[in-house]
This record gives sequence, C-alpha cells and structure tokens, in this order.
Amino acid sequence: ATPLAIASGIKTATDRGIIVTAEAVFEDAPEIETVVLDKTGTLTEGAMSVVSVHGEHPDEVVRRAAAVESLSEHPIAAAIVEYASDSTASSTGAATDGGTAAVDPDTFDRASRGVSAPVDGAETVVGHPDLLRERGLSIDAEIQRRIEATRDAGDVPVVVGWGGRARGVIVVGDTPRSEWRETVETLAADRDIIVLTGDEGAAADRFRSVDGVSEVFDGVPPEAKAETVRRLRRRGPVAMVGDGSNDAPALAAADLGVALGSGTKLAGDAADAVVVDDDLRAIPETFQIAERTNGRIG
Ligand code: ADP
Ligand code: MG
Repeated sequence: ATPLAIASGIKTATDRGIIVTAEAVFEDAPEIETVVLDKTGTLTEGAMSVVSVHGEHPDEVVRRAAAVESLSEHPIAAAIVEYASDSTASSTGAATDGGTAAVDPDTFDRASRGVSAPVDGAETVVGHPDLLRERGLSIDAEIQRRIEATRDAGDVPVVVGWGGRARGVIVVGDTPRSEWRETVETLAADRDIIVLTGDEGAAADRFRSVDGVSEVFDGVPPEAKAETVRRLRRRGPVAMVGDGSNDAPALAAADLGVALGSGTKLAGDAADAVVVDDDLRAIPETFQIAERTNGRIG
C-alpha cells in the first residue's frame, strides 16, 4: 500500500473507533486465515454481574472476595467489588462498619485463574476451582454440585476459600454481545473462526454448533492462550481478538492482535489495533479497511 493509502486507511479506521498502532495491520490483515476470539469481554459484554452467592456465610464470602478482587482489573473482579459495595450500602450501618477488609497490594497474587491475598490474617483464594485445588484447598460435594449447576446454567462459578477449604461460590453472569453472531458470520465468510475460553460448560458450549465457528477451545487458562495461538499459526496467519485483562501475551503471539475495549492499557501495548467504541462489528470492518487500503477491493 502507498503511504497515502495507509494514511487514508488510518483515518477511516479512526473514524470507526479503531486505533491502528502498527501500520503492518494493513499488510497483515488480508493474509489472515484464522481468527481467534476470546470469550469473556470479546464475545460477551464483559460487564459481568453477580447472580447469586452460596455458602454457609455468604456475607463473609463476599466481603473477603471483594477485598482481594479490589486489586484486580478482571471483569469478574469488577462484578464482585460492585456487588459488595451495593450490599454494604443496603445493609444497616453498625453491622458492616469497617466491614471492608483492606488488602496490602504487596501480598496480592494475580494467578492466571484468579487472585489471592491474606484477608484478616487468612490467605483467601478467589477464582476457578482448579486454582483452589492447586493451592491445596479442598472442595466438598456441596460446593462441587454448585459449580456444576452454575456451569449448566451458562454462568461462571467463582469459588472463594480460606483456611484449607472452599467456603462459597459466587455465581457470575456473562451475557453474549448482541452483535456476536453477525460478526462471526461476516468474519467466517473468508476465515476459520476459533473461540477460546478459560471457562467450561454451557458458558463455552453456547458458542459451539453455530454456523461459522470451526472450533471452541474451552478450559484454556490465560497463559496457555498464547501457546494455542502459536500452534494455530503453523497452519497459517492468525489474528487474535481479546479484551486484554489477561490476553496480552496471546495478542502479542498472533500475527495480528486486536484488543477490544479502551480500558485495556496493557493489551493496547501488545495489540496492533485497538477497538475503542466497544462494538464487535469493528473487527470485520478492520479487515475490510485493510483490504481497501491494499487495493484488493474497490
Ligand atoms: P475467558 O477465557 O473467558 O476470557 P479468562 O481467561 O479471563 O476468561 O478467565 C478464565 C477464568 O479464570 C474465569 O472464568 C475465572 O474462573 C478465572 N479468573 C480469572 N481472573 C479472575 C479473577 N480476577 N477473579 C476470579 N476468577 C478469575
Ligand atoms: Mg479474557
């Protein structure tokens, strides 16, 4: 493409809320054979919310989880922190005064499948059931049943544990974006579409057996996403689309990394293009603009 075509392409993209950070986007996009779409925050709205809380002491479960999540930027963290502040506001003063535990950022641990930190002296782990097992916390039959029921409903079970065992489940809902099918259909006309998610069950399954989706890889922890992208690249050029709270390595591993959402500074650094207007349809448009810039279509 000529410098003038590139300048014009950058302007068209900017007008559509697509910030192109690498000129190579225009050269690379038309070559892409596989588009990998992250689920949370990309195919789904990313504004997750707490559906329900389970456990013997649900208030304690929420209070501890919110304390740890206050240091995380994951959509799940935002949902739990907001839920905790809403329920604190709606309870009567004295009982919850000083109820929000403070967590020392130096003790905070961001794992790929959750977070942990000491709260009131007890290491509190919040996240995927596998993370709790990894940390040696046991999960009893009742909590296991709740995890399965949550997945069957298409929601995400966030398990909270301290003192050697899981003590509760925070059910977090994850709504697919209204434009996701249309976007996948448009992209799939010329490319293979792969959906990538750390979740299991119906939350992942709802993207299966949809026209245009070649494969759904579920139960993939964030650190394995980059490896998945590298593996797919052996078949041909790959674009990765992610929201970026923890997709930055996968975006960087792709031939073309597109970050969705403006609040993702980290991913912005790893991405070749950033969609700031929060509309998934900007992804196929990025490909169209690139093709026009290269003079492939009229
Ligand atoms: P996706 O693959 O759908 O984009 P992520 O890779 O961001 O989702 O996270 C996968 C799973 O890891 C989440 O569904 C959740 O179980 C767990 N997880 C990640 N970050 C957090 C967090 N801050 N708090 C609780 N759970 C988390
Ligand atoms: Mg994600």
